[in-house]
Amino acid sequence: MISRIDLRGAALPEGAALRDLLPRAEFDVEAALEKVRPICEDVRHHGAAAVIDYGEKFDGVRVESLRVPAEELTRALDELDPAVRAALEESIRRARLVHREQRRTTHTTQVVPGGTVTEKWIPVERVGLYVPGGRSVYPSSVVMNVVPAQEAGVEGIAVSSPPQKEFGGLPHPTILAACALLGVDEVYAAGGAQAVAMFAYGTDGGSDTPGCAPVNLVTGPGNIYVAAAKRLLKGRIGIDAEAGPTEIAVLADSTADPVHVAADLISQAEHDPMAASVLVTASPELAEAVEAELKTQVAASKHVDDRIVPALAGRQSAIVLVDGLDEGLRVVDAYGAEHLEIQTADAAAVADRVRNAGAIFVGPWAPVSLGDYCAGSNHVLPTGGCACHSSGLSVQSFLRGVHIVDYTRDALAEVAHHVVTLAEAEDLPAHGAAIKARFGWKVPESK
Ligand code: NAD
Repeated sequence: MISRIDLRGAALPEGAALRDLLPRAEFDVEAALEKVRPICEDVRHHGAAAVIDYGEKFDGVRVESLRVPAEELTRALDELDPAVRAALEESIRRARLVHREQRRTTHTTQVVPGGTVTEKWIPVERVGLYVPGGRSVYPSSVVMNVVPAQEAGVEGIAVSSPPQKEFGGLPHPTILAACALLGVDEVYAAGGAQAVAMFAYGTDGGSDTPGCAPVNLVTGPGNIYVAAAKRLLKGRIGIDAEAGPTEIAVLADSTADPVHVAADLISQAEHDPMAASVLVTASPELAEAVEAELKTQVAASKHVDDRIVPALAGRQSAIVLVDGLDEGLRVVDAYGAEHLEIQTADAAAVADRVRNAGAIFVGPWAPVSLGDYCAGSNHVLPTGGCACHSSGLSVQSFLRGVHIVDYTRDALAEVAHHVVTLAEAEDLPAHGAAIKARFGWKVPESK
């Protein structure tokens, strides 16, 4: 069901060589770029009509209009199961607690008397938030996208999620209800690359009424087509980190409960046949017990043949045996998992030593599924090793820091000679002239 990679008995290689020994999905976004390029071009030239055509082709349902009418949002909330509503409300409440703390404050540094630099944080004006809806539907991703955008102070928030045949071409009703709960009223029934292109180019002037105005930034997780479209259109739009098929790595020792470890590995495998579940341990006894548990628990699971078994049996999943905790830490750092669980003795101290992970879950009572829904943390996290250079979604993702430079005559005079010297060193004399022009074409005497 799950393969083993045995790294015991020899020194672990460094950097990329170690990464090459570790399991990883074939998630070839570069190859998918060629598939999504014509889709994005069509949307660019034909607007809403193209988005609707691709929805029919890939999602199997043709919609009249991409924009979800306000009454459908209200209706979805009215008809939402009260238990799901309570759970979503708690998820929103906890996410707000955490994300509110991420707000940045304006800070002014006095560099010299009369010379200040203020860093001001300005929210992006308009954002497009993608909520996946292919294999599963993710109302939780509405929460994880919308809450940081709102806490950042973004004024224009649009959400898009694939049209569902079962619901007459609307996004899933729980997604609509989550939008209504969060006060988002601009929602579109569009999925995949065509949704990202709709956000990037806008669909004004098409048959769709009202159209979608272009956005400045697109965030949210999705499949390979969503990731490829974001990569292709980056520059025209800002994007967050690539958040593709989910990954869990568990660093565990002999104190871990194999029942918990197996359950957590399966919990992420049920997202997608390309999802990755990786156990890193120095305990062969734990490895064996987890393998046995996987068999038992998978047999009792849903989504077995279409997602869990292909995910666990795929080349992206494995049990990695190492010599000890230090080697285990080197392996999880090289892997850079989206989600990393530490199930060892003294888990907090071990977690503190981790360098690369999208989010870290400490000890036996913090499983990844808690973070997927209700920990307060964000679940839109970098995958495919991107955790080595990128963060998950946060308030910061929706803010831009702007420096405001304010100098008096005296403060400029004090540093003018340095500016002129550096301008001359770069052979850019007009830069120096812009200083001299303010002082009768002379460089002020340095004090
Ligand atoms: P999705 O909404 O991302 O993709 C569905 C869309 O893909 C469809 O609307 C369709 O337009 C498009 N599509 C399907 N086949 C296509 C084809 N052949 N060519 C072009 N476009 C095509 O939903 P999904 O497929 O269920 O994927 C969601 C992914 O998001 C999963 O891999 C899940 O693990 C991941 N996820 C990641 C995070 C994270 O933070 N990393 C969070 C939640 C979900």
